[in-house]
Amino acid sequence: MLAQINNMPRVAYFSMEIAFHEAIPTYSGGLGVLAGDAMFSAADLELPIVAVTLASHEGYFHQSLDGDGRQQESAENWNIAEYARSLDAKVCVHLEGEKVWVGAWLYELKGHMNGCIPIILLDTDLMENSEPNKALTNRLYGGDERYRLKQEAILGIGGERMLQALSFTVIRYHMNECHSALLVSELLKRFRFNEADVREGETTYNLPRVRELCCFTTHTPIEAGHDRFSYELVTEVLERELELDVIKKFAGNDNLNMTRLAMNCSEFINGVAKKHADVSRDMFPGYHINAITNGVHPRRWVCPELAALFDDYLPGWCHETELLRNVDVIPSQNIWQVHQNAKQVLINHVNRYHGVLLDLEIPILGFARRMTSYKRADLLFSNIDTLKRVAARFPFQIILGGKAHPHDDEGKRLIEQLHSLSKELQYDIKIVFLENYDIAQAKMIVAGSDIWLNTPLRPYEASGTSGMKAAINGVLNLSVLDGWWIEGCIEGQTGWAIGSESPSENGKDALSLYQKLEHIVLPTYYEKKNDWLKMMITSIQKNGTYFNSHRMMRRYVCEAYL
Ligand SMILES: *Cc1c(COP(=O)(O)O)cnc(C)c1O
Repeated sequence: MLAQINNMPRVAYFSMEIAFHEAIPTYSGGLGVLAGDAMFSAADLELPIVAVTLASHEGYFHQSLDGDGRQQESAENWNIAEYARSLDAKVCVHLEGEKVWVGAWLYELKGHMNGCIPIILLDTDLMENSEPNKALTNRLYGGDERYRLKQEAILGIGGERMLQALSFTVIRYHMNECHSALLVSELLKRFRFNEADVREGETTYNLPRVRELCCFTTHTPIEAGHDRFSYELVTEVLERELELDVIKKFAGNDNLNMTRLAMNCSEFINGVAKKHADVSRDMFPGYHINAITNGVHPRRWVCPELAALFDDYLPGWCHETELLRNVDVIPSQNIWQVHQNAKQVLINHVNRYHGVLLDLEIPILGFARRMTSYKRADLLFSNIDTLKRVAARFPFQIILGGKAHPHDDEGKRLIEQLHSLSKELQYDIKIVFLENYDIAQAKMIVAGSDIWLNTPLRPYEASGTSGMKAAINGVLNLSVLDGWWIEGCIEGQTGWAIGSESPSENGKDALSLYQKLEHIVLPTYYEKKNDWLKMMITSIQKNGTYFNSHRMMRRYVCEAYL
């Protein structure tokens, strides 16, 4: 089996989270889903890649809400042995002076042709380890800073050692976000000039070789969002592993900045949308930063009935998504019927679990994503009187969902607030907050909504991908001009913009949102069905063909890997 996966040179794709299976909770949000979609495309396109991530036995967390809308967190356990095979190799990483053994599981992600991507899941739950060390690969983004640094050391240092132990020939290292950046310390140790060729006092590590091997994708347009660790902590945890004087050269003198470390040691760096690359260039002057706009995996995100329709009319679309440019050969009534069926599936789910009776004939506004303040889930509710007035003229229903990070009190308050609003407004607008937003739910909500709402604070949405999932299902986006939507929005054709491209102001954005809803979006839905249908088709044609992970991976191959 190993002979099959390490038989050819491969690109090693490192990501702290990868959502590679609907039933496996090894992700927290967009970053992990993107990594999963990237690997699904890699499998479909038969690219030579091996993915490296953590086992995350307890997932991120399972979210439930109490009667007051307070988030309750519990382990979302999954049984790795049901899905993956245990590999013999073991490597060791020294953390806080102790030996921590790291084992590996192999999950084989199959593509729709013959492709198969090996995913290596790193695991410290081994007999040799102490109880606290066994738990290091349990909870994704769990615990405190020390736990996080140890997880990142296992991913970066342990992951690279594991690839060596498994005899992989790695032609490129792709760091998806900075969490795996410690892997460069391994490469700097391995790639050295001959002592004899180096003048006295000069360093022996072969930086050009390391940079040539590494690619780095940043996803964070907020300076404070980049992982940083104090050298005090780094020394306590990693003294035996890191050559600190070397690391400081690349990661900064004040603290270990994982993004700087990755950037300084990568020849190829990219942001995940054009705007995000611009923002990153401003944040990191002097670096050459490319833009590869994200995409979503076509077969994974198009709802089954619509996929069947595409299969009938446009065979091959799920391999060559460009074929969807001809989606207008499908009778629009068929597309409408399929959409209504997807909506009915969503409505049945909501009715069954929440006892709120949603109506098939009333448009659904969907808003589901990580609950964190920059995403502004509350913008729609800035002015309740206006919202009620609009709903009285043109009724609509709202479906919400999303988890807040266990340490994010503001995000948790937001959920409570949305929960209480759903009660307060129950006689005016039907609003449902679905618990435990995950991929299965995302599939149902993005396909079954009529309007996909996104209201982030500019320019904090690096890309956003749920809107792409909506677009390829013919669900129309109503979104602030940030991230991918700056590239995807053709006003009145693929969806609508909220506000302008200038810096966000809550008041102005809210006003723009209400005006669009009342005067354009909802009247089109109710009074101009044909225009609406035409827009659904245009959304698939213009955005489904482009914002998909096949295009994205083809670009990574041509521009970053080769
Ligand atoms: C697509 C997806 C996301 C990302 O959504 P954004 O709109 O990019 O924030 C987060 N969580 C899940 C479960 C998803 O499927």
